[in-house]
Amino acid sequence: MTVHPDYPDPRMIPDDVPFEHVCEVCGKTESLTSTEAYAAGWDYPPQMYQWGVVSPRTCGRCGMDATVWWALMADRKQLEDLTPEQLATVDRIRNEIPD
Ligand SMILES: [Zn+2]
Repeated sequence: MTVHPDYPDPRMIPDDVPFEHVCEVCGKTESLTSTEAYAAGWDYPPQMYQWGVVSPRTCGRCGMDATVWWALMADRKQLEDLTPEQLATVDRIRNEIPD
């Protein structure tokens, strides 16, 4: 699934074009520009972190300590320790940018 159907590479999405933001913790989705998302407290590329690299993808209400990134980095979990939902998040993040 691409971040924006018109931009296979999300790094090409212009600043004023909204795209789907997906909170990996609560599952909330919102169509926002990156500026709007940042103002609303989302931790999301490109304002925070990089596309295609496992890092938090959270809305303004959710904390990074519930993210897959936290599980891997702070809790030192291995991929095989992750839940199916967490693995789906890893896949989604890795598929943000084209191979
Ligand atoms: Zn959330």
